[in-house]
Amino acid sequence: MPKLRRCEKCRKYKRVLYKINDEEICAECVRGMAFYQAFKESFKDPKYRGDVITVGIDIGNAVWFNPFSYAWLYPLSLWMVSKDIGARLIIEKGSNIIKLVTKDNREYTVKWRYKKPLDDVLRLYQEEAILKVIDEGDELVLTEGETLNEMLKKYGDRPDAFEIIDAWVSGLIIARLHEEADAPDFRLVDTLIQVIANEMIDNTGDITAESYSKVTGYKCRLCGLKFTTREEVKSHLMTVHRTPSDEIMGHIEEESITTGYLLDIYSLVKALTQRGVRPETFFERMERLGVAAPEDPDTPRVIERDGRKFVVIDPSWVRIVARAKIYERGLVLGRGR
Ligand SMILES: [Zn+2]
Ligand SMILES: [Zn+2]
Repeated sequence: MPKLRRCEKCRKYKRVLYKINDEEICAECVRGMAFYQAFKESFKDPKYRGDVITVGIDIGNAVWFNPFSYAWLYPLSLWMVSKDIGARLIIEKGSNIIKLVTKDNREYTVKWRYKKPLDDVLRLYQEEAILKVIDEGDELVLTEGETLNEMLKKYGDRPDAFEIIDAWVSGLIIARLHEEADAPDFRLVDTLIQVIANEMIDNTGDITAESYSKVTGYKCRLCGLKFTTREEVKSHLMTVHRTPSDEIMGHIEEESITTGYLLDIYSLVKALTQRGVRPETFFERMERLGVAAPEDPDTPRVIERDGRKFVVIDPSWVRIVARAKIYERGLVLGRGR
């Protein structure tokens, strides 16, 4: 059996490490990196953009009470306030004071009071092109980076623009923190990613979890016309096609959409417990804030099937983690040692 070695990211001892960018990294950290990549790339794909925003909102809600997240998300909140009141964001060089200066020169100041240095946090914002830091002598001016500008261009005309921007950017930052050596691991989010990847998706990125679906309508197989209720399609068949009663069912096609995927509740509880997250915390976030829960209001959050209990997970999460698994495969192929 190979001996235990230390992962250079999370510092935990593992038997298998992967050499990536000159670092030896454990499988869970590789998955975190893959998730970050999937999260970032999916936004560019119209097919996955909605998923990524849903997951981003959930990530924001999942870490909301985690004090470590405050420092990392604070500049984004400040930027949103500054947009809201039409102010410029200015830092006095070498200080921990951030000023919001309005057009009529009113000034609001806030003090950076987190343990994590402001510079470190801003570095990440710059690397992700969320904010740009412009040196103006005694002051540093914070403005939109390319990423934010692009989002404003795409969504600026919508009333929910800031919600969308907030969701994606916070999700991206939290996902990105997997890449930071000394960053806090947001255990609830991480557990969710790991357990979805392990239990619901195979190694090639195909979803293997059972789906929960909801009937959205009924189609007449004879002419293709669609109806919202079973009664309507029945009476259509009887009157338009003169279908005899005993043949009616054979001509009705149910149409349904997947509103969730099933995750064995015990696998989830076990994964949470292993990582030191109280299962109650997860279920409370799910109930109260809808974290990972299906968006469809008619879809239950917990169901029983064949005597087993399942949590119903939002399809957006499963699709984004499935993409992450494809990236993960690319990262680890031939790199194990
Ligand atoms: Zn690790
Ligand atoms: Zn018909």
